[in-house]
This record gives sequence, C-alpha cells and structure tokens, in this order.
Amino acid sequence: MQYHLDGFTPGDPALRRAVDGLSQPESSDLYEEVDVLIVGCGPAGLTLAAQLSMFPEITTRVVDQKLGPLEFGQADGVACRSMEMFEAFGFSERVLKESYWVNETSFWRPDPEAPETIVRADRIQDVEDDLSEFPHTILSQARVHDFYLEAMLQSPRRLVPDYGRRFSHLVVERDGPSAGEYPVVAHLERVDPGHEGHVEVVRARYVVGCDGARSAVRTSIGVELRGDAANKLWGVADMLAVTNFPDIRLKSAIQSSNNGSVLVIPREGGYLFRMYTELGELEPGERASDREITPDDIIAAAQNVLHPYTLDVKEVSWWSVYEIGQRLSETFEESTPSGADDGPRVFITGDACHTHSPKAGQGMNVSMADSFNLGWKLASVVLGMATPELLETYSVERQSIAQELIDFDRAMETLFAARATTAEAGEAKAQQAQFQEYFTKHARFTAGVETTYETSLITNAPVHQHLAAGMTIGKRFHSEAVIRLADAKPMHLGHTIKADGRWRIFAFADGDDPTNPASRLAALCHFLEANPDSPVNRYTPADCDIDSAIDVRAVCQQRHRDLAVDGMPSFLLPRKGRFGLIDYEKIFCPDLQHGPDIFDSRRIDRTKGCVIVVRPDQHVAHILPLDAHDELADFFVRFMVPVASAH
Ligand SMILES: Cc1cc2nc3c(=O)[nH]c(=O)nc-3n(C[C@H](O)[C@H](O)[C@H](O)COP(=O)(O)OP(=O)(O)OC[C@H]3O[C@@H](n4cnc5c(N)ncnc54)[C@H](O)[C@@H]3O)c2cc1C
Repeated sequence: MQYHLDGFTPGDPALRRAVDGLSQPESSDLYEEVDVLIVGCGPAGLTLAAQLSMFPEITTRVVDQKLGPLEFGQADGVACRSMEMFEAFGFSERVLKESYWVNETSFWRPDPEAPETIVRADRIQDVEDDLSEFPHTILSQARVHDFYLEAMLQSPRRLVPDYGRRFSHLVVERDGPSAGEYPVVAHLERVDPGHEGHVEVVRARYVVGCDGARSAVRTSIGVELRGDAANKLWGVADMLAVTNFPDIRLKSAIQSSNNGSVLVIPREGGYLFRMYTELGELEPGERASDREITPDDIIAAAQNVLHPYTLDVKEVSWWSVYEIGQRLSETFEESTPSGADDGPRVFITGDACHTHSPKAGQGMNVSMADSFNLGWKLASVVLGMATPELLETYSVERQSIAQELIDFDRAMETLFAARATTAEAGEAKAQQAQFQEYFTKHARFTAGVETTYETSLITNAPVHQHLAAGMTIGKRFHSEAVIRLADAKPMHLGHTIKADGRWRIFAFADGDDPTNPASRLAALCHFLEANPDSPVNRYTPADCDIDSAIDVRAVCQQRHRDLAVDGMPSFLLPRKGRFGLIDYEKIFCPDLQHGPDIFDSRRIDRTKGCVIVVRPDQHVAHILPLDAHDELADFFVRFMVPVASAH
C-alpha cells in the first residue's frame, strides 16, 4: 500500500483523500444529474459502486428499494477469483480472517449394503494447488456487502447508497429538446417512511440495473430472461445444531437413495452451517410461497437425507425457500438505435441477467464479476479516456460466460438430483462417480479462474502466447510470488493490480543485465518514457503522475541482491506527486526460496522475456515481445483516446 505521496497524512491510510469540499458522505439530494445511476445494492451493485467511487471525477448514485443494508442470508460462497478481486478492492485480508475456508469436499452416497443409510464415497481437495494464491471461502453475503460499503465510504467520493428508492422506469432521450449530456431519465419512487409515494427523477449518462432476478431496469429496456421457468424449489437454512454427522465441518454433497439430496456448507465462526435441501418442483403458475414451507420442513428433509446420522437443531438464524430456473438474457445492454454513435447507455448485471441454482455457489461471484468487467469500462468512457465502443465489449464478454454457467449448472443439477432406488444400486454408484468426476473437472470453473474472454477490441489474438505460455490471453493474470527489488519485500505480483481503472504493462526481462542501457528492457523503458507514440505519453493527462493511466512494472531474472536499484532505468523509478518523490515499487525479482520462480511457473521465455498487458479487471489482454514497441502502441490506439483530444 502506498501513501503519503502528496504530504504526510496521519490516521488510517485506507481512508482516501476526499474530493475537495467533501468531508461528509455525499447527500443524494445533491444529485439530480449523475454520471452513473446504479439500481440495486446486492453484490453486483456494490461492486460497481465501489469501483466507480474510486474516481474522484465521477458522480455516482446507488439506490435500493430496501430500507437499509442486508443483514442475513442469501449467498455465501466466495470463489478464489472473487478473493483476488477483493484484494484489488483492499479487503481480501478481512474476508480471509472471518471466513470459513473450503479446503476439502466430501461426497456421500447411499450405502450399497444398506441403501436407506448413507456412506462417505470420497473426500477430495477442493481447490487444486496453485490455482490461486487465495482459498475458496464461505462468508455471509451481508458481510461482503459491509466490506464494499466501507470501501465506498473510504473512497474519494465517500459514496453511500440511497435506500428506500424503488426504480420504476426509464427512458433514453437521444433526440429531441431534452436530449443532451445526461440522456437517461430514470424515475424513482420513495418507499421510506415519511416519503412514501414521492417521485424523484434522476438524469444520468448511464444507468446500470443491478436489481436482481426481477429487474425493473431489464424490463425498461425490453430485455427478457429466457430459459426454464423458475420451477425448482430449494430450501436453505443457516443453523446452529448438534449432529453426529462426521463431515459437518466439510463442504459435503450428500445423496440419499429416496429422500433427495443435501448440500452442507460449513460457515464462518466455527459452529454455524448451512444446509441446502431440494424441495421438489413447482407446478406451472405456482409460487414458493403457495407451499407454505416452514424451517421445520427444511430440517425434516435434511434429517431424512442424513439418516442414520442425527441432526438436533438449536437455532435457525436465517432460512429461505426460493425458486430457481436456469435463465439468461440474450443481451446485457439496451439495444442502441441505428445511427446512435454513443454506444449503449443502459446495462444490466448479475441476477438481472442470469439465474441458476445455488449448487455451484456462483450467484454472488458471477454477479460481482459482471460488474468488475463493466466498472472500469464505464469509468474510462465517462472520463473521456476511451471510446464508447469499449462499452460494447461488456455484454459480449459476460453473456457468453453466463451461458457457460447456465450449461454447467444444468448438467450439475441433473447429476446432483439423480435418484437411485435400491434396485438401481449399480446405476446409483455410477451416477455418484459421474457427479464427482464432473465436480472435480469443473473445480477450476467454479473457482472462477477459467473465465476466458474471446479476442476483441481489448483482448488481442494469441499471436505471441508462446512467450508466456502459463499466462493465457483472455484469462485473469495468474499471480505469483516475487520479491520487490528496492525493499526486498516478498509479495504477490498480482496484488499490484488494484481496482483503480488503470491498465498494467508487466515487462518480463530477458536474461540480460537490465542496468545495461543496451538491454531490451532498458530500450522498452526508453520508448515508453521518451517516444511521443508511447501509450504512456499518449494517454497520461499532462497534470497527472506518469503511471496514472498505464502502470508499468518490470520483473527481472536476477536475484534481488544482485541487482542495483540505482542502476535501473529511470522510467522504473518515476518521480511522482507534488514533491516529485521517487516511486520505488515498480521493479521485482523472482522469489527463489519457494519452489519454481515466476518465470518457470508461468512459463515465461527466459531468453526473450516478454511484455504482458493486463486490463484493469486483471485479465491478460496481450502478450508481446519486449521489443515490439509499435505493436504495443497500436494495441491501445484501438480504444483509448489520446489526451490532446480527451474532453
Ligand atoms: C431471497 C434470496 C435467497 C438467496 N439465497 C441464496 C443462497 O442461499 N445461495 C446462493 O448461492 N444464492 C442465493 N441467492 C442468490 C444470490 O443472493 C444472488 O445470486 C446474488 O445476490 C446476485 O446478486 P445481484 O446483486 O445481482 O442481485 P441481488 O442480490 O438480488 O440484489 C438486487 C438488489 O436490487 C434491489 N432491487 C430490486 N428491484 C429494485 C427496484 N425496482 N428498485 C430498487 N432496488 C431494487 C433489491 O432490493 C436488492 O438489494 C439468493 C437470492 C435471494 C433473493
């Protein structure tokens, strides 16, 4: 963490300098015109709000029909990839500390000798080695919300949600007398005590519907969720209970012969656990509430599955019965009228675009990932740093990921729900084995690290992929341990990528001495620093630090004690802030103490080195030779706006 750049500031360094004149959280009443209006304070809405709140120049308003923050329940699975994203937002350590870590998963099936009882079929490692530097964790969605709310409050904009506002509809006014800078007109109805029925009209450049499965924003732009009707009924209960089921502190998938299946999710704090139970299918037109299911019904269903083990429930802290269908919208953006060159103005993210069973633990994760994909793009376009075409990549990228999720979920659910009667015991075993195999094979997918964005405006074709075979273009930058040169700090290279909207260029040096001005690393630095065509020079505003648009870091092959920091190219020791202080945190060396170093584990060509360009959402955008200076510059030309023409 870097601070004190513009002068010593006492107190908590996480509390960022507020925009001028703003000491209190922003009052929503100030904003009838905003850059971005976010509807919904679930994980999708809060990820987006936290991202946008990092930009002092951007005004954001985030509203929810609820009267205050979530306190209980809903999702709880936090995939490794989401942990990596939390690191970028600055709160991964808090989640690590509070959460349950899913290190192993057990599978139970009907005992072939006594099929009315269950027996452990297997117990496996949950996350394969070196999939991520973070574990798969379990934490209440409410706590995840808390961390986002705190990040927003500490941001330069001190952003707080406006609760008690129900979005009703919007119109996009591209033509006509009232069209202008803020073309989206959204209507909000106050539902908070004392203001009921009062209507607020907010004009925005962009509106993002993060308003869940029954999204009114989605309806406003004429987009539908398509797929199976929400007909599968699930009971979920968070409980404190005494049981003799031995794997109660392991994530356990349990299939009984005739009583359905249960998923046990141990929870944070050591005692609490969650049980998901299947409660059958709804008839067409029937709603979950019509069944009048109680917590006792959920417990009874779980007790039947667990037999012969006992379950004595002492307290149910939260429970819910909810209907699920695998549904997906065809697009995640408004369709723009022909001739409109400003790109889409309204987007949807999270459950507003896709719904699926809780089995794979993806609800919160995929929703947050949607918003992490969109947030930096919106910020770049609002700030005039990128062209509006950038926004069109959001729906394309995330819709195909959601389709994969729906396909995965459908297959997983079919396997999980496969029943076996005594007469079909052989078949039951085969189904169990198939489920387990599917679960293991797709662990990378559920960890969130398999997400691969196709070649596009911002993700280059894999022309030079061989230079870093272990850093797949389109996938997230796979972090690895390194040593920071100047202060010998062991750390993760990926943790330098913060949720601040900046692009990163990681220059992996060849074997030459990087202090030699004739080395290829030094030549790249010289190009980036001095050449007018360098992306750093083209896109960095005149009054900003040299790394404010594109942050360049170098990884050398030498042992950190063998490299002289003062001999390194000056570009890697940039002068910043109002005092022109030197930033010493741009250069790294391999960590040679703990197994293969970054060059070996990520299969980076030691002879040639390479340049890895990383998007602000941590996905690898491009891999190039160290001396492909023009190619590097050409990549950014596709979507960035040079500073001279930025507005
Ligand atoms: C009752 C419930 C129980 C769930 N249980 C589980 C579970 O056990 N396990 C699991 O994995 N997943 C569960 N989920 C799903 C998981 O919580 C979601 O996948 C995840 O929260 C999606 O995040 P989101 O931000 O897209 O939407 P949501 O979390 O649904 O957030 C949407 C927000 O928008 C607000 N909103 C909606 N309409 C409007 C409007 N018109 N105006 C203003 N605000 C509006 C809502 O109040 C809400 O705060 C559950 C969801 C619900 C609703």
